[in-house]
Order: sequence, then C-alpha cells, then structure tokens
Amino acid sequence: MKALVYHGPNDKSWDEVPDPQLIDGTDAVIRVDATTICGTDLHILKGDLPEVTPGRVLGHEAVGTVEQVGAGVQSVRPGDRVLVSCISACGRCRFCREARFGQCLAGGWILGHNIDGTQAEKVRVPFADTSTYPVPAGVSDDEFLMLADILPTGYEVGVLNGGVSPGDVVAVVGAGPIGLSAISGSLLFSPCHVIAIDLADSRLEAAKQFGADVTVNNSREDPLAIVQSLTDGLGADVAIEAVGTPATFELATGLVRPGGRIANIGVHGVPAALHLETLWTRDVTITTGLVDTYSTPTLSRLLATHQIDAARFATHHYPLEGFMEAYDAFSNAAETQVLKVVLASSP
Ligand SMILES: [Zn+2]
Ligand SMILES: [Zn+2]
Repeated sequence: MKALVYHGPNDKSWDEVPDPQLIDGTDAVIRVDATTICGTDLHILKGDLPEVTPGRVLGHEAVGTVEQVGAGVQSVRPGDRVLVSCISACGRCRFCREARFGQCLAGGWILGHNIDGTQAEKVRVPFADTSTYPVPAGVSDDEFLMLADILPTGYEVGVLNGGVSPGDVVAVVGAGPIGLSAISGSLLFSPCHVIAIDLADSRLEAAKQFGADVTVNNSREDPLAIVQSLTDGLGADVAIEAVGTPATFELATGLVRPGGRIANIGVHGVPAALHLETLWTRDVTITTGLVDTYSTPTLSRLLATHQIDAARFATHHYPLEGFMEAYDAFSNAAETQVLKVVLASSP
C-alpha cells in the first residue's frame, strides 16, 4: 500500500510500504476513506518530537471502513464505517478507568507517533472496540473526520477544562482549527461574548463564521482593553490558549478576571513565563491537558443533529496520493487560508 512516511526532520514522502497486519487480538485493520493533517504533524516534521523515528507512517485522524478484526474484537465488524480517533484506549488501565484515555498506559496518542498512523491507504488500530466510533447516518466523512482530534480537543481541553458557563465572557487566543473548535464548543453554553484573538485577519474572519461575536487583531489592537471594555474592567471569565507560544500563554493569563480560568490547549515547545508576581492574589485556575476523547460520543450526537457545523473546517480537498501538495497547503495556512485539509481515497 501507499503511505506518507516520515524520514526525519523536513523529510517525508508518499511511499510504497507493507500492508498493516493484525498483531494483537484487539486490533482492527481499517481502510482509510478520509484522513487529514494536524498541526502536530508539522511539529513532528520540524523535528520537535524526537521520539517519532524515521520510517514512521504519520497521521492520527481518519474515517474508514473496517477490513479485518482480531479474535478479541467484539463490537466492530468488517464492513463497519468508523472514526479512527487520535486517542487509542485500552479501557482497562487506571487512567482509562478514570476516562483519562489520553493518558492510557497502553495507548493514548500512539497512532502516527509510536506506531504507524492514518496517512495511508490502511491502518492497524489497536483496541478497536474502545478506540473507534460508528459513523452516524446523515453525517459526511468531512464532518465526522473533525471528531478524530480537533473537536474533542477544543471542547474538552478548552471549553470543559475552562468551565465555560452561561453568561461567561470567553476569550480565545488563536483562531486556528483548535481555537475555532473551542469557539464552537463554547457556544453550546450560551456565553455572553466569545472574543477571538489572532494576528491574521483571515482567521478572525473564520472565527466570526464559527460564531465569535468579537474579533481582535492583536497586531494592531489591544486585546486587554477590549476584554476590559466588555467586562466592566474585570477581565474574561475564561481564557482559552490555542496557539502554544510563550507570548500567547502570557496574553491568556493576563486576560482573565480574578477567580477566572485559563485553559491551555496549545502545544508548547519552549518554556513560557507564569507571572505569579501578578497572578498570586487573583485566584486563577490554570488547566493543561491532552485530549481524552471522552466527549466523542456526545459530540457525535451533536453532529448528527447538526448542532455543530463541522463541515466548514474542511476547506481543502485532495486525493490520498495528493499528500505532498496537501502538506504544502496546510503548512502555508497564511497564504492558502486552509483550516483543515481532507484527503479521500477514490471509491
Ligand atoms: Zn492532532
Ligand atoms: Zn488504558
């Protein structure tokens, strides 16, 4: 089969590789019908995640059709159409028992990380019963694919960790796909305002389409002044950090009111300053997290009943063999205005 193979920093290609085989009794082999590229894949290609070794097939998001299942798989059958989630869950370890599947001792984020991933014609999915989700009727592959990573990440790590509640003023720093997911998820809780903050006007335009009612371009506007003007000078109830740089983390911590919450989603590669000299008296809560995907069934129902419009994330479409072109487009988001690429196999 063909797959997108990581050969080392700044080196990838669409290669012929052996077909995946069942290894454990709980595995499934799934034909990839649609897959995508994540910002994390770009970090891998920069060499930021040295644990990803040359030869690895990248990708941790897919919608596919089950081809084979191991003897221990009970609920997934050949022919089933399923979501392959970015998180694999053994269902048995301490963390899975607490629904912290992202921390699973045998799984977690392993696809396209520790084992071969979904940017391929086929993928081996461990713990198939507890790591895949059936595609509901009436939901397109484009929409459901967004449930593999960005929607639960924005919802769990941003909205739920941030405790977004009715009447809140929510500031979302960063309006890329994760920030937009956090905006969508926040709206489920009837906030008074959702303020999107980004350096790119095109992303702020997308944020408006996703439901942010206030947008701030912090290359020319002062986000703190705008947040204060909407909150009687107090600050945001919740600040969601969806970029992963020291500057955006410091901005997020500076925007919340006393007693407010800062939910970090961004993938950080270097230390960020925590200004305890100003925060220590302010009763703030800071949360971090890797997505657990415990919200995937809930979000699946919300997609099936069109409470969330996930199709608008899929701005660019390619055939599977168009991976090199899709990576170019995705890594030049400022020019291409891509949100998510969708690569689909030919039927
Ligand atoms: Zn991802
Ligand atoms: Zn586990």
